[in-house]
Order: sequence, then C-alpha cells, then structure tokens
Amino acid sequence: MALGEFDLITAFFSDLGLQRPDVLLGVGDDCALLRPPPDRDLALSCDTLVNGVHFFSDVDPRSLGHKALAVNLSDLAAMGATPAWVSLQLTLPEVDEIWLAAFARGFAELAQSAQIRLVGGDTTRGPLSIGIQVQGFVPRDGGVRRSGARAGDLLLVSGPLGDAALGLKLCQQHWQADQVSEAIVLRALEWPKPRLDCLPLLRCFATSCIDLSDGLVADAGHIARSSDVAVEILVDQIPKSVAMKRYLAETGDFNPLLAGGDDYELCLTVSEQNWEEARAMAEELGIVLYPIGRVMAGEGIKCRLPNGQSWRVASAGYEHFFR
Ligand code: ADP
Ligand code: MG
Repeated sequence: MALGEFDLITAFFSDLGLQRPDVLLGVGDDCALLRPPPDRDLALSCDTLVNGVHFFSDVDPRSLGHKALAVNLSDLAAMGATPAWVSLQLTLPEVDEIWLAAFARGFAELAQSAQIRLVGGDTTRGPLSIGIQVQGFVPRDGGVRRSGARAGDLLLVSGPLGDAALGLKLCQQHWQADQVSEAIVLRALEWPKPRLDCLPLLRCFATSCIDLSDGLVADAGHIARSSDVAVEILVDQIPKSVAMKRYLAETGDFNPLLAGGDDYELCLTVSEQNWEEARAMAEELGIVLYPIGRVMAGEGIKCRLPNGQSWRVASAGYEHFFR
C-alpha cells in the first residue's frame, strides 16, 4: 500500500540535513521553533520549481532534489548569507517511494554540505511542483545588496557562463555535442553548485552582488538599475568552458552565454582599489574571480563583442509573464 501523507513525511523529510542547536523544534508540530542569533540579520528567500517549466518530468529525481535546494542556496550566497534553515512545499501527483527516496537523497546531501536543516513544510496532492524557502544569517546591516555598485567598480563573475543553457539546448535536441561537452553542459544544468564558498569574499569586498539565474545581461541589468549605474561587459573576458567555446565557434550565437538562464554563478562588483586584496583572498579560498567589465556612470548594459561591435539583446533573460 502506498504511504499516507504523515508516513511519507516521517519516512523522507523528518530528519534531513544537519542537526543544529538553533532548531528548538523541527518537523512534526504546527510550527518549527527557531532561535536566530541575536546579533545577525535574517535573510529569507524562496523559489518554486514547476514540472514542465523548470525541469523535465523524467529528470533524475536525485538531481532535482539537489537543484531545487541549490537554486535557493544560491540566493543566500548572493546576499552574503550563511544558510541555516529550509522548508519544503511539495505538491505530488502520487506517492512514488522510489522517486521520493531519490529526491530526498539529492536534497539531503546538499543540505548536509551546506549545514542547513529542513525544519518544516507542506505536502499536498496535485501537479508536481517544489517550493522551497531558505533562511540564513548576515552580519547586522551586512547583507550584500544589488544596489551598492559604484562607477569605477570592476564587474566580476565566479565561473564559466552559459553551460546550463547549452545543456537545455542539448536536451531539446537543438544542439549536438561531443561526449566531453555533453558531460559539462548536462552537469551544469542538473547539478548547479551554489557558490557559498564565496561568502567571505563577498562580505569583505563586494559592493553589490546577484546570482545569475536569468542570464548575465538580465541579472547584471538588475545591478545596474538598482545601483543607478551603467555596466559595460567585455564578452571575450567572460570565462567559457570548452563546450561553450565549441558552440561559439560553430554557431557565433552569443545568446546562451549572455542571456541563458540557470548559471548560478555569482556576479559581483568590487572597487578597483580593493581588487588586488580581493584576488589574493580568492586565491587563498581556491576561488577564481573573473573581471568581465566595468561599472560606469549612466544607465543600461552594453556588451562589447570580440569584433568590437555591440551585442544586440535578442531576449534578455527568462520572464514568466512575458507577452
Ligand atoms: P498542519 O496541518 O499543521 O499544517 P501538516 O500536516 O501540514 O501540519 O504537517 C505536519 C508537519 O510536517 C509540520 O511540522 C510540517 O512542517 C511538516 N511537513 C509537512 N510536509 C513537509 C515536507 N514536505 N517537508 C518537511 N516537513 C514537512
Ligand atoms: Mg500543512
């Protein structure tokens, strides 16, 4: 017989992630009881993944559990927040224990490594969708906002861009790749790594930050608008995997690189005078930050292509209600 709602919660979601002393009461009561540290600000974010919109129904459930949590942790990372607690709103068409076990495993493995505890949620029947809310802490008044970029700052990213967009093209059979490229782009699409390793750097040096979920141009555009500045991006400075290099050589199409979604790298700004120190700290942390452009007075985003021309925005990132 299939598990009921409460057995399902007990079996898969009652002991998930790192046990933490600041969780006074976790899954199982009307509310969780949590004790935030007195000297920190609470950072909170949620994201929903809908079957057929954010993932294919036949995706590996373990990678889905990982990705659902990863995209939320990426928001905490971009704010400079240390993860603490997470809740999970699951809507399931049916109880498939094998699917649930794999989903919970992917979720739990990342929760453990991010030192986060699942403290509650809701479980309902309906079309498959996964809503997650994460909470974390920043030093008091120390949240890294989108609004702090200043003219003269360097624009940086934390890793190669566009691979997840190529992974999607591959899945949709809009692109064919060699084995090495295929492995790179599918990994980028299904197993994104939230850049929590960048937290110390952001707290010390970032004047602004955003995580790249909707494409570089759209997301750098959010920094530009919030900070009331212009941003110039030098496209040949953007780090690219061998898969992306191959795709660009074959097609000359910059859309996946500049406007593809699902990168989950960080895009941040650092003042020029702090750059050497930031780079030294990054090296100590085993992180590479790539300068890809500059913040200037003005407004808007300009992308300079390797041939010196400006890139024309075909579609500047994914929007759900775009007409
Ligand atoms: P209520 O009826 O009071 O809303 P529920 O029956 O929805 O309570 O949930 C019972 C307990 O199980 C609560 O503590 C809730 O937070 C937790 N819970 C329900 N679904 C999930 C889930 N998918 N993951 C984690 N905890 C869950
Ligand atoms: Mg409920």
